[in-house]
Amino acid sequence: MQLERLLHAQGFGSRKECRALIHAGFVSVAGTLCDNPATDFDPGSTDGAPGLAFEVDGEPWRFRARAYLMLHKPAGYECSHKPTFHPSVFRLLPDPLPNRGVQCVGRLDQDTTGLLLLSDDGQFIHRWSSGKKRTPKLYELTLADPIDDAAVQRLLDGVQLDDEPAPVAALACERTAELSLRLTVGEGKYHQVKRMIGAVGNRVVALHRSRVGGLTLDPDLEPGEWRWLEPADFEALS
Ligand code: URA
Repeated sequence: MQLERLLHAQGFGSRKECRALIHAGFVSVAGTLCDNPATDFDPGSTDGAPGLAFEVDGEPWRFRARAYLMLHKPAGYECSHKPTFHPSVFRLLPDPLPNRGVQCVGRLDQDTTGLLLLSDDGQFIHRWSSGKKRTPKLYELTLADPIDDAAVQRLLDGVQLDDEPAPVAALACERTAELSLRLTVGEGKYHQVKRMIGAVGNRVVALHRSRVGGLTLDPDLEPGEWRWLEPADFEALS
């Protein structure tokens, strides 16, 4: 693949911008400066695996045909490229990623923390955000008021939410302390967890997603940090 195309595919700008970067001597490949945009390189990746190593303006990068990543979402960020009131989660990623069409796999509210998957693979995004697949999503909740066994049972049996044709039931629900609940849902409806808790007369004061499918948020990621998904993560997900 020509160097100009290779940089463009990774999100380093339009073809013209990438050509200018290369001509200006900002790009080196495998440690050697390359100022010819037409030079051919083997990108070394056809999927999410790391391929060719290069540097743009001194910053190291590895070519990946597709981007799959997990972010420990902090509170106060919106899952949108065009946020309204808070900064976008895409600000937490290095420049080329938002520019290459990376999207959130489902959305978390601005005040929700925890595991957020992102990708530029449309099929992957659809597979893991579609409510129809009923992928279990595990949330840790802090509640405004104590919750009793009867309310836990109602969440398991199904609660009626406004604008929903049928009751929505938790896949699992466990009280972990007087004001804490661990709740698993299969759908990804708008404000689903908060609305379910509202339906049993309580209120969520903190919401953290710790797992999607079988994939758990990496405990080494601090809020705001991200990493690439690895083969074991894909196995865990499915
Ligand atoms: N349910 C909610 O209410 N908010 C989220 O961010 C995720 C699930």
